[in-house]
Amino acid sequence: GPQVEPDPSKKTLVVLGTGWGSVSLLKKLDTEHYNVIVISPRNYFLFTPLLPSCTTGLIEHRSIMEPIRTILRHKKANVKFYEAEASSVDPERKVVRVLDTSEIRGDVIETEIPYDMLVVGVGAENATFGIPGVREHTCFLKEIGDAQRIRKKIMDCVETAAFKGQSQEEIDRLLHMVVVGGGPTGVEFAGELQDFFEEDIKKLIPDIADRFRVTLIEALPNVLPSFSKQLIEYTESTFKEEKIDIMTKTMVKKVTDKTVEAEISKPDGSREKITLPYGLLVWATGNAVRPVVKDLMDRIPAQKDSRRGLAVNEYLVVQGTRDIWAVGDCAVAGYAPTAQVASQEGNFLAGLFNNMARTEVLEQRVRELSGSLNLQPGNAAEISKEIEEHERQLRRIKDIKPFHYSHQGSLAYIGSEKAVADVSWFNGNLASGGSLTFLFWRSAYLSMCFSTRNRLLVINDWVKSKLFGRDVSRE
Ligand code: FAD
Ligand code: NAD
Repeated sequence: GPQVEPDPSKKTLVVLGTGWGSVSLLKKLDTEHYNVIVISPRNYFLFTPLLPSCTTGLIEHRSIMEPIRTILRHKKANVKFYEAEASSVDPERKVVRVLDTSEIRGDVIETEIPYDMLVVGVGAENATFGIPGVREHTCFLKEIGDAQRIRKKIMDCVETAAFKGQSQEEIDRLLHMVVVGGGPTGVEFAGELQDFFEEDIKKLIPDIADRFRVTLIEALPNVLPSFSKQLIEYTESTFKEEKIDIMTKTMVKKVTDKTVEAEISKPDGSREKITLPYGLLVWATGNAVRPVVKDLMDRIPAQKDSRRGLAVNEYLVVQGTRDIWAVGDCAVAGYAPTAQVASQEGNFLAGLFNNMARTEVLEQRVRELSGSLNLQPGNAAEISKEIEEHERQLRRIKDIKPFHYSHQGSLAYIGSEKAVADVSWFNGNLASGGSLTFLFWRSAYLSMCFSTRNRLLVINDWVKSKLFGRDVSRE
């Protein structure tokens, strides 16, 4: 479309990121009140809850992506999108420095974008704790590229294990899939992997099938620390049936190209060092702060005691600033770093900004009316009435409640068409695990899936995989 120049009478609202937090904000925001600019290295929204299913091809990756330009096209007023990374934010000068990090670059690859209001929704990066070998040899599971890499590697390991003359020892190594981190990401991935093996690999390559093994390594005494005790037990016993090996109280210390070295804490307090050969290693040990967020925290004195991200107040304003807000995994508001929290925060901010804009319009109108009161004494009664009405409206919308998170429950898929759910309904608590929960899990995600298009694509993938098996061709 035509280039639309920013309206100088409106404030410029810059939004960083196109994840759960930022996109929920953009969906609900009345964009006509602001000059909205969105900056993200990723020109699509990613539906992360179904990302583990992409690693085995159960779901094709494009089914869970939605182009940001499609989302923005439906907004009332023009919104600008720049595919770029924010490299730093200067809260004094109120500018964001942005960098084009994509493959194709033009003459201009770096520039500054001024803001009046800024929302930081850049998410988090993968924690490695500086453990040697993690960056070089393991796969993360956060972005689409990660899932595609894992999908290719699984099949590469399988095909290489099936290579003529491969030794028994090497077959065992290649077919040993290790997952580090027993949070929901690691657990869901291990479950998907075991399904892939049971439903497809076993049938397609029966001669090496009995050598395929999945091991899940967790430093704490149990997996899924955020779930209830009953569901932890259910998950651990299901994994036992699925023949997924869980190694708890085991801390990974080092990774090489073919082995993972860990330390097991024994009940008597002693420690044992072990070395496990692997074919594929997926690293899922949680979140770390992104450099751009760290840099911004260093520039704001009030953030000096914050470690895990930008500390925000109950209106999601970054502490120590007046015109910067933060949502999602990069914000520390006292909640878990989940999509559920991020999307509610984005929603809240949209409401807040819509309100702020409406307040300004009403206040402007009250000023105008008050001015005309002196000029038109004949209409005084009428004008006063109108002013009163506006002020009543103002009082109502100015009374904005702080952000309040409403927990809808936790859900995780654990393989063999089973899922675990901690859900609170009607103030009662329901902890359930099993196949019915799995159906609930699927329908919950379908109803959460963003567009009708995504919903249809995901259903299509599920049906296709059920009827014809997963597509194991290695692109
Ligand atoms: P993200 O969704 O990560 O988005 C961050 C955005 O910022 C991205 O668009 C990124 O490209 C962009 N960005 C990065 N760097 C920059 C930069 N320098 N400048 C500008 N933009 C930048 N949560 C649940 O509640 N339920 C689930 O079932 C669930 N399943 C998950 C499964 C997996 C495999 C993973 C990895 C996570 C899952 N989560 C789930 C957690 C959930 O995905 C995150 O909490 C959520 O994505 C956080 O939203 P966000 O907007 O803060 O960040
Ligand atoms: P996590 O932080 O929840 O779990 C990481 C696990 O790795 C921890 O249990 C930790 O003890 C372990 N660990 C860390 N270092 C280790 C080491 N050296 N050796 C062995 N184990 C080690 O991370 P996650 O699973 O990626 O989840 C991140 C966030 O996303 C969480 O808030 C989670 O709730 C959310 N999420 C939710 C879902 C869901 O609801 N279905 C799915 C995925 C992610």
